[in-house]
Amino acid sequence: MKKVLITGAAGFLGSHLCDRFIKEGYYVIGMDNLITGDMNNIAHLFKLPNFEFYHHDVSKHVHIPGELDYILHFASPASPIDYLKIPIQTLKVSSLGTHNLLGLARAKKARILVASTSEVYGDPLVHPQTEDYWGNVNPVGPRGVYDEAKRFMEAITMAYHTYHGVETRIIRIFNTYGPRMRLNDGRVLPAFIGQALRGEDLTVFGDGSQTRSFCYVDDLVEGIYRLLMSDYAQPVNIGNPAEITISQFAEEILKLTGSSVPVAYKDLPVDDPKQRQPDITKAREILGWEPKVDRAEGLKITYDYFKSLPKEELFKTEHRQFDKAN
Ligand code: UDP
Repeated sequence: MKKVLITGAAGFLGSHLCDRFIKEGYYVIGMDNLITGDMNNIAHLFKLPNFEFYHHDVSKHVHIPGELDYILHFASPASPIDYLKIPIQTLKVSSLGTHNLLGLARAKKARILVASTSEVYGDPLVHPQTEDYWGNVNPVGPRGVYDEAKRFMEAITMAYHTYHGVETRIIRIFNTYGPRMRLNDGRVLPAFIGQALRGEDLTVFGDGSQTRSFCYVDDLVEGIYRLLMSDYAQPVNIGNPAEITISQFAEEILKLTGSSVPVAYKDLPVDDPKQRQPDITKAREILGWEPKVDRAEGLKITYDYFKSLPKEELFKTEHRQFDKAN
């Protein structure tokens, strides 16, 4: 049985990856320090003989006994309000954490895939974003802690590939959504759905003309799986090119939830990218991958998930112990 280590296993993407690798017949070791992750996302896996959980922070030395075939590094706060609250932890997990995992991959002769992001393009001056665009990032702005950590992650990953011959894969993930997103993590989809369900105004930041392109989680997981199994070591964009403005997105959420709450316009956060759309030519050509789930279908599944949560979840503002995180 092949063994895979998944960091960030209790998070949104990590938990879906655990499900996928269990389904493919792997022995899965999930690792998480539970700062932004949630054990409820993986509770159903604990009864399985081929799942094991390590409560550990990957920015500290990582020890895994025995053999290891694959590593997927998905640990990191990923929403702007999270990485503003825990900036140093955000920097450490993608720098020190990636270094530890690359060392582990080298020692075990394991293949490693790291989760990079469309944020490496910053507020992009090229549209749609191709992998050969180097980006427009403000290193000292509020998003710098995330963006620069992920850029460092890519650099050190390529260095281990080039100088140590480690088998590495780099995915650049664009906005992704689906069940198990945290209702209060501040990202636009859970924010809007939560507001609609509570009967509050929908908070659109800026004039709502900024764009995003939303990918359903199952499509993303398929892209990750294919990239891991490929022999391609350069970065690959995975995302859904269907681009919309945030104002249009608010309208879609109102329609989906049958809500008629008003839209309230708030200040645009500093360095909020004005447009974002993946060019997925590489993923199409190298992985034979493209998204299959359209937004109407994906949003319906996600809305049903949020509706199924206990009512008190809807009214929780923040329950994370961020103060101890750095
Ligand atoms: N946004 C918004 N209202 C909210 C939350 C986010 O208008 O309550 C906007 C945000 O300013 C950004 C877009 O929605 O332009 C996507 O934000 P998100 O935090 O989901 O992810 P980002 O792509 O910015 O990392």
